[in-house]
Amino acid sequence: MQLLKDISSSLRHLFFPHVCRSCFAEITQPDQYICTRCVSELPYTGFSERDANPVEKIFFGRVRIEAATSLLYFTPASSVQQLIHQIKYKGQQKLAVYLGKMMGLEILGSDRFQGPDLVVPLPLFRSREKQRGYNQAALLGMGISEVTGIPLAPKAIKRVRASATQTRKTRAERWQNMEGIFAVSPNLEENRHILLVDDVITTGATLDACASALQQVKGTRVSIITLAYAMQ
Ligand SMILES: [Zn+2]
Repeated sequence: MQLLKDISSSLRHLFFPHVCRSCFAEITQPDQYICTRCVSELPYTGFSERDANPVEKIFFGRVRIEAATSLLYFTPASSVQQLIHQIKYKGQQKLAVYLGKMMGLEILGSDRFQGPDLVVPLPLFRSREKQRGYNQAALLGMGISEVTGIPLAPKAIKRVRASATQTRKTRAERWQNMEGIFAVSPNLEENRHILLVDDVITTGATLDACASALQQVKGTRVSIITLAYAMQ
């Protein structure tokens, strides 16, 4: 029986080689999406244990956040950019869940992130999600939820309109542009501590707007984790 399994696994491997999504070397474990070497070489920020880290500073004076972090640095033409491109535009949904699990381990390993009782992915506008077929932030959230055991609440908040394009706007204009694009579910209970999840943080404008909307529900606290952090 084991022999048959081995043969069938090798055959499957021959026709559908399972490769690392970063360096494209072949991987033998079917549930691994990035090879061990690439995992060890990713540019980790180490922000999770740091008070007033660069991600938290983005929100200073704008919205109250309990703790915020990003797992990786985002730089152009890097392996991180490549991974994000695949989860956003190439339909690599399992890779997104896998990266979410890495984010979940980060949460478990950090004293500053003990306490969230709901994982809420940053919602996409409906037509965008329909076009893509999924919301990559929801898949990251699924991975986080699986590892940490914190329940996923993908419908806690929705995006009621797409934001206008962010290019060629001043910083102040960008923030103003974000008001009123989210609506909180009437089912969201009071006094919850939400872990808000997204793929990349740059200006933080969208996450700020989303956190502010969530905090309209009494007693809501928000922590934030993104897969990557892009320096401004
Ligand atoms: Zn690799």
